[in-house]
Amino acid sequence: MRIVVLTGAGISAESGVPTFRDADGLWEGHRVEEVATPEAFAADPHTVQRFYDARRASLAAVGPNAAHVALAELERAIGDDLLVVTQNIDDLHERAGSTRVVHMHGELRSALCSYCGGRHRWDDDLVDADPCPGCGLGTLRPDVVWFGEVPYHLDAIIESLVACDLFVSVGTSGAVYPAAGFVQQARAFGARTLELNLVPSEGSPFFHESRQGRAGDLVPVWVREVLAG
Ligand code: NAD
Repeated sequence: MRIVVLTGAGISAESGVPTFRDADGLWEGHRVEEVATPEAFAADPHTVQRFYDARRASLAAVGPNAAHVALAELERAIGDDLLVVTQNIDDLHERAGSTRVVHMHGELRSALCSYCGGRHRWDDDLVDADPCPGCGLGTLRPDVVWFGEVPYHLDAIIESLVACDLFVSVGTSGAVYPAAGFVQQARAFGARTLELNLVPSEGSPFFHESRQGRAGDLVPVWVREVLAG
C-alpha cells in the first residue's frame, strides 16, 4: 500500500514549535505578511532575516515528538511505499529518522542565493551574512517559500498523490493552498483519505475519515493500525 502523509505545523506543536493559525494569524507575534512574503523581505530584509534566524536558532531547543517518531518507524517498515510531504520548515522529521521527506515550503536550515539560486546548508544567522559562497555576489535569504511564491517539488508531489492508495493529513489547517487541495487530488485518483488534526479543519469535509486529537496520540495509533495490516 502506497501512503502519502502531508504534515503541517500541528505535528510540531507538541515539540514546542508554535503554529500560527492558532494565535489569530500571528507567527511568534508577527503578522504573516510582515515576515512571510517577498514584499516584506524587499521592504525590510533585516526584520525578516532576524525572524528566521530566531526560528533557526530555536530548533536547537526542540526535538521530535511521538508523531514524528511514529512516521519514521513506518518508513523503516514500508520503505519506499511511504512519502512524507511536509509544509514545515523545521527539521523534526529528519531528526526522528525519516529520510523520504519533501519540504514543499523549504527548510530553515538552508540558505538560498537571490542572485545565482544556489542553496547552502545553513545553521548560523543570515542577517549580515557574507554574500553567497557559490557566486560571491548574491545576498542569501532563507530558503523558505513565502506567500505568493511557488512551492517546491510540486511535480513529484502530484505524481505521488496520483499513485497513492492512502492519503493522510496531520496537523494542517487546510487553509494554505496548494497543500489544502491535495486531499481532493488524491481522492479523485482513488486514494482513501484520513485526517488527523486537533480540531475539525477547513478541509475536514473532503476526507473519508477525520479523527480529532493531538498528533502525538493519533499518529502512533494510526501507524500501529497500518503495521497490524
Ligand atoms: P497552521 O498553523 O495553519 O495549522 C496548524 C493546524 O494544526 C491547526 O488546524 C491546528 O488545529 C492543528 N494542531 C495544533 N496543534 C496540534 C496538535 N498537537 N496535534 C494535531 N494538530 C494540531 O499550519 P499549516 O496548515 O501547516 O500552515 C501554516 C504554514 O506556516 C505552513 O505552510 C508552514 O510553512 C508555516 N509554519 C511552519 C512551522 C514549522 O515549520 N513547524 C510552524 C508554523 C508555521
